[in-house]
Amino acid sequence: MSNPLFAIDAGHYIDTPGKRCLKSIDPGETREWVLNSRIADKVQERLRGYRCATMRVDDVTGEKEISLSKRVALANQADADLYLSFHHNAGIHGGSGGGCVVYVAPAAQEQSIVVQKAVYEAVVAATGLRGNRANPMARASLYVLRNTRMPAVLVEFGFMDSTTDTPIILTEEFAEQAAEGVVSALIDLYDLRKKEEEPVTYEEWKRYMDRYLAERAELPASMPEYLEDAKAMELTDGSRPMAFVTREEAAVMARAAAKRE
Ligand SMILES: [Zn+2]
Repeated sequence: MSNPLFAIDAGHYIDTPGKRCLKSIDPGETREWVLNSRIADKVQERLRGYRCATMRVDDVTGEKEISLSKRVALANQADADLYLSFHHNAGIHGGSGGGCVVYVAPAAQEQSIVVQKAVYEAVVAATGLRGNRANPMARASLYVLRNTRMPAVLVEFGFMDSTTDTPIILTEEFAEQAAEGVVSALIDLYDLRKKEEEPVTYEEWKRYMDRYLAERAELPASMPEYLEDAKAMELTDGSRPMAFVTREEAAVMARAAAKRE
């Protein structure tokens, strides 16, 4: 698949009720969307160097609530190749443990399961946040997984109410590692090539060179008084003042100069 399109969904928006870190662990009660979006931004940033495209189906300012049906519709309309939904978990209520969990739909496409395994393993390898979940690669009948036409996974990057996970998932370093994990899985799965690794062919180079030479020939003289002198001495007709001189033209000029002696 060349130039795949990844639809990225940072779950929720800033004001989603209840979706925030537990106050006793994080007095600032960081909102889940902020954490989700931070990883989404970093994934997009890293993928910019590769031959693929990304789109966001959440509101990147976090201020507008985008419904789940709208998110799915955006990805379906764009005919995205993969839907990645980013979330952070809750349910430990101030206890310890947690870790990363990746979900696919109960009737998931084969590729969803392939992505699920690769993303889980790469994120755990990059972050070290293995956790103690009995089933970190699970199936769940979640709206965005059920209604997307393309393969889809939903990643829960650790718990917002765990004394183990929360101090870690709040750090910039964790977000970097999580993004690195996701992107390394995508690079492998979709055989993504770096943009700059695409070599320029000889034919392309010749076209660029011709264009460059044609552009130079149109430039005005940078030392017009010298050009006037040269014209007066009949060394040049004054055309194409900024074009390069060939050896042949140089020989003609030298001959004209010699004749004047
Ligand atoms: Zn969530």
